[in-house]
This record gives sequence, C-alpha cells and structure tokens, in this order.
Amino acid sequence: MNTMTNSAQAPRRLTILGATGSVGCSTLEVVLHNRERFEVVALVGNTNISLLAEQAVACNAQLAVTADETRLGELKNLLAGTGIEVAAGDAAVIDAAQRPADMVVAAIVGAAGLKPTLAAAAQGTTIALANKECLVCAGDVFLRALQASGAKLLPVDSEHSAVYQVLDQNQPDQIDKIILTASGGPFRSYEHAQLASITPDQALKHPNWSMGPKITVDSSTLMNKGLELIEAFYLFPVSANQLDAVIHPQSIVHSMVAYKDGSVLAQMGEPDMKTPIAYALGWPNRIPAPVKRLDLAALGQLTFEAIDRTKFPAVALCLGCLERGGSATTVMNAANEVAVAEFLSNNVAYLGITQLVDATLNAAEKDGMIAELRSLDDVSHADLYGREKATELARSLQS
Ligand code: NAD
Ligand code: MG
Repeated sequence: MNTMTNSAQAPRRLTILGATGSVGCSTLEVVLHNRERFEVVALVGNTNISLLAEQAVACNAQLAVTADETRLGELKNLLAGTGIEVAAGDAAVIDAAQRPADMVVAAIVGAAGLKPTLAAAAQGTTIALANKECLVCAGDVFLRALQASGAKLLPVDSEHSAVYQVLDQNQPDQIDKIILTASGGPFRSYEHAQLASITPDQALKHPNWSMGPKITVDSSTLMNKGLELIEAFYLFPVSANQLDAVIHPQSIVHSMVAYKDGSVLAQMGEPDMKTPIAYALGWPNRIPAPVKRLDLAALGQLTFEAIDRTKFPAVALCLGCLERGGSATTVMNAANEVAVAEFLSNNVAYLGITQLVDATLNAAEKDGMIAELRSLDDVSHADLYGREKATELARSLQS
C-alpha cells in the first residue's frame, strides 16, 4: 500500500539510500531548505563516515547506516550522545530501506542499489529513483516487484523527471517520441583519434553537471545516455523505436516529449539536480529548491546537434541490448561498471571502456548467457557473469 502523506501538517517521512553521494548531498540540501516538510528516518552511506555522521546530525535522522561493517565503531563514536541509532553491513542497509517511511530516495550507485531499493519497494514505499542501474539491470523484474506491492516510482534522473513533467499520462497513444537531451560530455568536439589518450582526470571533468565519478565517466562516453534510453523504455509507455536522443551542450532543456499533433513539450532549468530531486520529494506538489534561476536572455542561445554514433558507440550498444532483451542489458551494465572502475584505476584505456563492454556482450552471446530474466536470481546470475567476464577480458587486455 502506498503510504505517501501529502497534508501540510504531516511531514513526509524520508529515507535516503546513498546519502553521502552527489545525489544524496543534493537531496539533503533540498530537505534542509524545506525543513518542516520532511522527517528523516534513515540515512545510508558507505565509506565516508564523517560526512554520514555530519548529515545525520544536520537533519536529525533517526538512524544512520554504513554498508561497510568495519566502520561501525567509527560511526558510533561520531554519533555518541546524539540519540541517533547506528548500524552497519548489508543486512542493516536492507533493514534501513524497510523502515516505515513515505518515500525512499534510491541514490546508491550501480547494481549495488538494486536489493535495498527492492526491499523498500516491497513495503509499498514510494521510490524516488536516481539509481538508473536498477532499471537497466533488472527492468521487468524490478517493475513487477513494484507492481506487486503497489509502490509508486518517481524518476529523479533529470531527463526522466523532465519527461515525467511533460508527459500526458492519459493519452499515451498520442506520444510520437520521447527525446532525451545529452550534453555530449567533455569530448563532444574531439576527433576520434584524440579519444585514445584520455586520462581519468580529463574524463572526471564534466562541463555542466557536478556528479559522482561513475556517472561522470558514463556521461563522457555517452554510456549514460544509453543507460537513460533503457531507463526511459521501462519508465514510460513507449516502444524502443519511439526513443531518441539529441545533443544539447548547454544542458538547459532536460528532455522533451513530441506528440502526434506536432507539439513538442520540453522542461527547462539550470543544470542542477536539486530541481528534479525537489520535484520528486514534493510530488504531487512542487516545493522550493535552492537553485539558480534560469535566465534565458543571459544565456542567449540554446543549440542542438545529432549524436555521432561512430565516435560514441555506447548509445548504439545500449539500444542493441534493449532489442536483444532479457539479460543483455544486465550483462552490459555489469561490464560497464567493471570497465569504468578499471579505467579509473588506469588498467584500461579510455576507448577500452566500450570495447570491453562490447567484448563481454559477444562472449555472453557465445556462452548462451543472453536469456529471459524471470527472477532476481536470474538478474544476479547475469550480473555476476558480466562482472567476471569483463574482469577476465580486462586482464587479458593488459597482458
Ligand atoms: P556517488 O558516487 O556520488 O554516490 C554514491 C552513493 O552510494 C554514496 O553515498 C555511497 O556511499 C553509496 N554506495 C556506494 N556503494 C554502496 C554500497 N555497496 N552499499 C551502500 N551504499 C553504497 O554517485 P551519484 O553521482 O550520487 O549517483 C548515484 C546514482 O544516481 C547513480 O546510479 C547515478 O547514475 C544516478 N544519478 C546521478 C546523478 C548525479 O547528478 N550525480 C544524476 C542522475 C542519476
Ligand atoms: Mg541524467
């Protein structure tokens, strides 16, 4: 049952999974900007214990949890005397996700976010979903779990929040296309040959958005746009051939819906995650967010261009996985998580990221690993295969 409270008097009870990350910190800012509207049930982080403790005090959380079991003592010491409960380890993360709350913000990065998010959804708790990997790696299995409990899903990713805000849910047959915008990342105007020598430091500098390291690298390869197209496929009532993406370097138009009458509705704003976060946190009402106001006259112009799919093969790779269906997107997501981590550790070259994902998918096809996903076990199996195969292939690339 959906337990969302909307009345002005009752504060919305909120849990934040991945509180110490980029989306988590922005969520906390929106919460503290609207102090009376929210009551924080639990904050979940991983290794940044001092920030987790600081946040728990700032928002007067009931519970603070670190996924890292070895850091419990540190968290206990930092929160001693505050009355805030502490816990650690994977089981504690699941418990925190299941505590009675009106909304859980799912902002853990990667497939690690899947189980805690599902645990929250199983309680019927509304999910404000930032973690795109959940939908990419578990698609239908994830949506079926939500359906079973009646949990509502609200997108936090800026593109999907934009689509959600302009989508006419009552007339899905009148949608012509969903068009996601992409900044094009820092290497948009590079020649293909220049991409070969890109370092982690270069890939970690996004021109418009300030985000965690994994999604920043994904944005530079345009893998992020590929993952978002898959995310859109599961979130909205359209088929894969109604999904499109266009480069928009200013990141002001956050995405669009084109209708059969020729109208195109877009949502605009400064490139700041606090806006889509506030939209999800306040839904169905709007609440204020501490963000810079959009000044179109000062900006002067908004530009758009087609994606160069040869230079950035990740988009076609993702759409190909969507067509193949079943575990293809699960294997692809796992391989990409490994490839990005290997690139950030200087073990794989920049162009090797998408090559590694492609090679893992080809191996999966040969090994008969692309199959229908019926259960969470099927998801875990495909995810593990993708991780192990990509790791093995990365080692062979180095030797
Ligand atoms: P981040 O790396 O900044 O933060 C990740 C958070 O997850 C941290 O709090 C970390 O402690 C926690 N975490 C990591 N591994 C964990 C584990 N095993 N168990 C429990 N907690 C764990 O990442 P981010 O940029 O905030 O992105 C979070 C998610 O939101 C990603 O899925 C990303 O694709 C998505 N997203 C991010 C942005 C953005 O602007 N940053 C925008 C749209 C979508
Ligand atoms: Mg996005």
